[in-house]
Amino acid sequence: MLYIILSILLAVFILYAFTRSKKKSQDRAVNDWHTLLKKHVDFYKRLDKKQQAHFRKRMQLFLDEIYVEGVEIGLTELDYVLVAASAVIPVFGFGEWHYNNLSGVLIYPDSFNEDLKFHDSAADKRILGMVGTGQFEGQMILSRKALHHGFNNKTDKLNTGIHEFVHLIDKTDGLTDGLPERLIPYEYAMPWLALMHKEMEAINKNESDLRSYGGTNQQEFLAVAAEYFFERPKLLKRKLPELYKMLEDCFQSETYT
Ligand SMILES: [Zn+2]
Repeated sequence: MLYIILSILLAVFILYAFTRSKKKSQDRAVNDWHTLLKKHVDFYKRLDKKQQAHFRKRMQLFLDEIYVEGVEIGLTELDYVLVAASAVIPVFGFGEWHYNNLSGVLIYPDSFNEDLKFHDSAADKRILGMVGTGQFEGQMILSRKALHHGFNNKTDKLNTGIHEFVHLIDKTDGLTDGLPERLIPYEYAMPWLALMHKEMEAINKNESDLRSYGGTNQQEFLAVAAEYFFERPKLLKRKLPELYKMLEDCFQSETYT
């Protein structure tokens, strides 16, 4: 009898301790996230209090659905925060968004090559991030150095995390082609293509404020333009108002940029 009572008491105690520590860690995460986001993510700083709370909730939902793992490195809370922020920023204007074409994000310590090698001896390590295909379908790979640089440099209009998540959004309709059908209604497809080609030509003639990589092809144009749009919205509005308007419609962001 005594044994049964002791067992029940022990079970109740374990449950109590578990619930308490879970609640504590959730509270800690929310406070830590707010501090980290305010320090590192300009996009978050531009939101009002209510939007900031919603942003953190969306980050939590993302991390509940998608695993984030370091490859030969341990990850810090800031790594998780920056990955989740990169995922939420481009879809924040949509009521809800699930990255159905993604199961996990792998974090490499630094840039890597086509064979996904990143050690000192590996040659041609130029890739900062990629959306996996073939055996890596459903995975994204990001260089930790590039992920952090994207948020720490506030003026370069460059953000590897956002760039790769925009590729994923583009890919939702089955084609990574710079024309995300979920975001651009059919009647806007032609004007978007025309504007995109005009701007790509300007990039290739060295007459654009967008970085040269955007002139590579349509999908890179969309990703590069989106980085600029989410990092420096006011500057883009001034420099390229037509493109700004198109991206604002596309990402439904008129309430927070
Ligand atoms: Zn790209």
